[in-house]
Amino acid sequence: MISRAKSDQLFSEALKFIPGGVNSPVRAFRAVGGQPFFVNRASGARVWDVDGNEYLDYVGTWGPAILGHAPKEVVGAVQAAAADGTSFGIPNPLEVRLASMICSWVPSVQKVRMCNSGTEATMSALRLARGFTGRDKVIKFEGCYHGHSDSLLVKAGSGALTFGNPDSAGVPAAFTRHTIVLPFNDPDAVEAAFAANHGQVAGIIVEPVPGNAGLYLPKLGYLAFLREITKANAALLIFDEVMTGFRLAKGGAQERFGIAPDLSCFGKVIGGGLPVGAFGGRAEIMDLLAPSGPVYQAGTLSGNPLAMAAGIAALEQLHQTNAYDALEELGASLEAGLRAAAASAGVPMQFNRCGSMFCAYFSAEPVANLANALKSDRERFKEYFHGMLEAGIYIAPSQFEAGFLSTAHTRADIERTVEAASRVLKRWRRAAA
Ligand SMILES: *Cc1c(COP(=O)(O)O)cnc(C)c1O
Repeated sequence: MISRAKSDQLFSEALKFIPGGVNSPVRAFRAVGGQPFFVNRASGARVWDVDGNEYLDYVGTWGPAILGHAPKEVVGAVQAAAADGTSFGIPNPLEVRLASMICSWVPSVQKVRMCNSGTEATMSALRLARGFTGRDKVIKFEGCYHGHSDSLLVKAGSGALTFGNPDSAGVPAAFTRHTIVLPFNDPDAVEAAFAANHGQVAGIIVEPVPGNAGLYLPKLGYLAFLREITKANAALLIFDEVMTGFRLAKGGAQERFGIAPDLSCFGKVIGGGLPVGAFGGRAEIMDLLAPSGPVYQAGTLSGNPLAMAAGIAALEQLHQTNAYDALEELGASLEAGLRAAAASAGVPMQFNRCGSMFCAYFSAEPVANLANALKSDRERFKEYFHGMLEAGIYIAPSQFEAGFLSTAHTRADIERTVEAASRVLKRWRRAAA
């Protein structure tokens, strides 16, 4: 057994001062049992806990660490920026540089506004969509997580799902009255909703590849259908690319699937590990934002020079290293290895993957929406999680989270992961026999 004595002591201390001992719920390990470990150092594909244990990390700080932890280019850029001042609240040149990079990588984005988290990005994009269309209603999908703002916290994935309360307490029903929640990958449901709410829907917000209830992919033609039906109804299509943006391709999921949304939301990767969000889209829509238009949105630390420097360095590094081809290859070899391991152990498993994002569900049925995901065997997942952790491999402590590869993962890391998974899965068969 690995000792986590110092982590355990810190956690009891944390429980005294921090609700649940954590600053974001899924970190608490409640879905898998046990206690979280505390980390004080991370580098490349590895993190080290306060007891000195090393873990191969597939969480990657929940998505941002696409270059691995503490890439020297990003750390250097942050150090250099910090020496010149950590915040100005006055326009700085780095904001212009990152905005122009985002617009050139993501052609549907003509103008972009920086904020401080993915939650702020989606909340503001929604307000903007409502301001632009003069309509109140918005369509979202079950299992899609768009941050924790009130009107979007309905049937959200991730932590909300992990803890079995998809609808948070403290959100007045009136705040979600305009949120229409539909199953993902079901065009008929969307058609029916537009028919029943004719002329009232401001837009659809969607994770183009939903990664907050595990991970599942849009069916062929589904995103194109969402594009067409929003256009036909003069509603906006909002892609929440907080997770997929700059991860699935330079231009995100929208590049990969060839769809141009009206508005896009970003976060995670564009912050290079610092707290950042952004939303952007067609100029005629974005120009409705204050100060050029009537839709209010603001932020004391928005466009923060450290965050901008980190984001610029991360994007430059992704570009210069041809990262997306390498990530695709790593993803494919992890997929092949884990599928083979499950097959040879006789364990029913669905391995969903898109580029460097993946999820293994212990289920005999394909997973293409939240209802499918909920049928997977979560007891098995718990055992899988702890088995991998004992082998020094850290995957997200919930079935309803995606895994992430980084350019710092190596072939040897993948092999080690597949071997460990193979041992864990075979143990079950022996236990069952
Ligand atoms: C993480 C995430 C968010 C929320 O971003 P925060 O920075 O945690 O507020 C929103 N949408 C999606 C798709 C996400 O994955």
